[in-house]
Amino acid sequence: MTPGAKASGPGPDDHAPVTPDWNCGSCGEEWPCATKRIRLLDEYQVDRAALSVYLGSCLAAATQDLHAAPVVSLQARFIGWVPRGGRTF
Ligand SMILES: [Zn+2]
Repeated sequence: MTPGAKASGPGPDDHAPVTPDWNCGSCGEEWPCATKRIRLLDEYQVDRAALSVYLGSCLAAATQDLHAAPVVSLQARFIGWVPRGGRTF
């Protein structure tokens, strides 16, 4: 799977999470998938705090849905990938 870099509107290429499994609706990877992570960083690059709030709410919802998964691994999956301490892009 190599998602293209093409920009498009909402739809099949939206890489939105599909609940309750929290897999990507576009590429089927665990959400947030690689493509979605890049898009989130781009979208929230000037406001990482807002990104943390957004991902935190997703994590809270996913924790309810994926109750069999260890919370620590969910935290790493939803929040652990976010670069800290300055811009990396
Ligand atoms: Zn995806």
